[in-house]
Amino acid sequence: MTRVPNSESVLILKNEDDESTSTTNIIWEELLLRLILSDHNLSVERLRYPGRYRAAAPRHLRLCRFCRGAVEDEAHALLVCTAHDGLQPLRERFLHDIMDDVGGFDHKWAADKPYEFLRFLLSSRKIVLRLAKFVADTLAVYDSHPRYIAATLYLPM
Ligand SMILES: [Zn+2]
Repeated sequence: MTRVPNSESVLILKNEDDESTSTTNIIWEELLLRLILSDHNLSVERLRYPGRYRAAAPRHLRLCRFCRGAVEDEAHALLVCTAHDGLQPLRERFLHDIMDDVGGFDHKWAADKPYEFLRFLLSSRKIVLRLAKFVADTLAVYDSHPRYIAATLYLPM
């Protein structure tokens, strides 16, 4: 299992990549995506494999523990779900804080394509540390509540 890097290791990567080309930009984004999001506790990953008393969940049944109306993936947790009181204030504070630092911010958001917006955020190097903190804070909200497991996934006793 990969560990989430601390902010220091993210900073080192950023400095090493100052003179970049478009190819390294793509590599950077993929790497950053994995560094920031790989070791999370969201159901889209954690229900992928069977547990002791339940079957592996098909993707459409890895539902958000708060709203139970969408797959609990990175984009949903970070940018969409409003079913927990703590999520939207974190999101609004982060987006307000970064909006002047990323070009074209207003044109990028589309509610039906949150993953594209997340990729856009990941491509903005100026905000990487703030993004990492926002991700950590949001995942902490998720970690503080038990995961939702659909009843149909439990194996017969
Ligand atoms: Zn939700």
